[in-house]
Amino acid sequence: MDLKSLLLVAASLVALPASAALNIFACEPEWGALAKELAGPKSTIYVATTALQDPHRIDARPSLIARARSADLVVCTGAELEIGWMPLVQSQSGNAKIHRGAPGYFEAAGHVTLMEPPRRVDRSQGDVHAAGNPHVHLDPANIAEIADALAARMAQLDPPEAAQYRERGKAFIARWQEAATRWQKQAAPLKGMPVVVYHRDLSYLLRWLGLQEVGSLEPKPGLPPSATHLSGLLESLKAKPAKAVLRAAYNDPRAAQWLSERAGIPVVVLPYTVGGTEKATDLFTLYDVTLSSLLRVAQ
Ligand SMILES: [Zn+2]
Repeated sequence: MDLKSLLLVAASLVALPASAALNIFACEPEWGALAKELAGPKSTIYVATTALQDPHRIDARPSLIARARSADLVVCTGAELEIGWMPLVQSQSGNAKIHRGAPGYFEAAGHVTLMEPPRRVDRSQGDVHAAGNPHVHLDPANIAEIADALAARMAQLDPPEAAQYRERGKAFIARWQEAATRWQKQAAPLKGMPVVVYHRDLSYLLRWLGLQEVGSLEPKPGLPPSATHLSGLLESLKAKPAKAVLRAAYNDPRAAQWLSERAGIPVVVLPYTVGGTEKATDLFTLYDVTLSSLLRVAQ
């Protein structure tokens, strides 16, 4: 390359606006998927966890800290779901843009009304939902609220692209609401269906569809299933039978299997988030797969 073309290349590099795109760090796959819907082709998205990992229990690995260092925007659940790892990732990253309170740090849970409102609990008892139930992404109305707020945040952080973020936000919400109307119709047979859950990570889904939670494998949110609790649960199912035991892809299968065999009801493995099953590749298919899995046991 001659000097002239080299200078032209250099000039074009300099001419690129520094904020032409966002470097996004998503704490969980559902927020990575939502960011993908809104951020546009120029942005990069790194998803810190997979659907097969328990989001309450993640290690603040050096690779996560390295990724956070260069992020313009961190999108997390909040409501203390990531309390065991994100504060460390944020402080170790040395990136002031993504610290709590900075515009580069976005918490989804802050934009919706939480179930199980915040309360004082003894954490030694294992309750991991002291700030309210953080698993907000399985109610479509929550996704719409969060999408609206996230598109606005992206516009704030990247002013040259602001109009595009708002436009993509509007288009996504319109598509999403159309799908939600369809899901609601499809899910009519699920109304009132009694189920046992593993953890209270399906509470928003159950409330939206009118399913009835008659027990959970965990004695308290975050406390692993114990033999005593499970036999008590099995006993209570005699008076209040359930149609199925639901568990997320990331949950240990053993307790659900144990109860399923003894109570004579099937285990339904739900993706819980994007990537939890093969077909749940984005937010739309996550809901499609979740509903079809539940409908299979509703008859
Ligand atoms: Zn939880």
